[in-house]
Amino acid sequence: GLPKTPPPTLAPRRKTRQIMVGKVAVGGDAPISVQSMTTTPTTDVNATLQQIAELTASGCDIVRVAVPSQDDADRLPIIAKRSQIPVIADIHFQPKYVFQAIDAGCGAVRVNPGNIRKFDDQVGEIARAAKAAGVSIRIGVNAGSLDPRLLEKYGKATPEALVESAVWEASLFEEHDFHDFKISVKHNDPVVMVKAYELLSERGDWPLHLGVTEAGPAFQGTIKSSVAFGALLAKGIGDTIRVSLSAPPVEEIKVGSQILESLNLRPRKLEIVSCPSCGRAQVDVYTLANNVTEGLQHLTVPIRVAVMGCVVNGPGEAREADLGVASGNGKGQIFVKGEVVKTVPESEIVATLIEEANRIAAEMDPS
Ligand code: SF4
Repeated sequence: GLPKTPPPTLAPRRKTRQIMVGKVAVGGDAPISVQSMTTTPTTDVNATLQQIAELTASGCDIVRVAVPSQDDADRLPIIAKRSQIPVIADIHFQPKYVFQAIDAGCGAVRVNPGNIRKFDDQVGEIARAAKAAGVSIRIGVNAGSLDPRLLEKYGKATPEALVESAVWEASLFEEHDFHDFKISVKHNDPVVMVKAYELLSERGDWPLHLGVTEAGPAFQGTIKSSVAFGALLAKGIGDTIRVSLSAPPVEEIKVGSQILESLNLRPRKLEIVSCPSCGRAQVDVYTLANNVTEGLQHLTVPIRVAVMGCVVNGPGEAREADLGVASGNGKGQIFVKGEVVKTVPESEIVATLIEEANRIAAEMDPS
């Protein structure tokens, strides 16, 4: 067959240098990775590994674990060893855990310069240890814990303040000839956050980790992260993303993956094209769309399924999709690759679509 042209994106990726977080490349031409963070106590190794397994199954590329105490730091080797995806140790306050995390086999260590006193004096030692172990670093600047010197200078966590902190820390690592780091400048306000990353991206070719910090519960956090990441990704900015939600971490992965899929930055999998319904609908579109989505969640092949309430746009959309239904009069016309294959009563629409989708999926991926 003809070579497939990749689907269009909004902008070429900005050129960043590439680093490795364990086996996952970040930056350069590496696919944009999706991260999350475990919510289990890191000391509870089994629960943490269980959550990491769930995250891995949902498409998480890199996972971060909190290291608030010595007991947590002591568990890092076993967690790093048993995790199927690279583990990043998240360290605040205690530089000695940074060295422990480097020795533990973590893929990377996140350091928050604003929260480590006398951090600057220790950069050389951290850089040497990380380099020797092949471990990368994330310089994670956060509005809530901005370096006190910059807070004083700027009065609050402005984009300029966040960037100045990040660039300063980056220069310290670079002075020690250490370049295997990525940077984040997170803020809870998408506008400040977007401006900060735009500024930062002009200052160097560091790979950037995007995040709206403390974005809120699922609904608000999803929207804040989506608009902020969208604004940046539309300019080619961003090499790895973490959606922060006050919700189970698997939800963060679903949202992050969906953001990338929406912008063609990751191959689309299941895509439901469903109408909002209106006064013309002759079937219950919401229930239909939800049931079809749920019934097809397991599919890993790219498939587009149209669920349409009536005949206005129904047949057109259903024809454009791999599979679809255009409803009317308590019945559904089932389309496969543009052809009506059958007409079924409303009660059989969901089951029919799932059956047809599974058949199409099996043809696409016989394994
Ligand atoms: Fe309304 Fe029909 Fe359009 Fe759905 S497809 S929104 S029911 S006009």
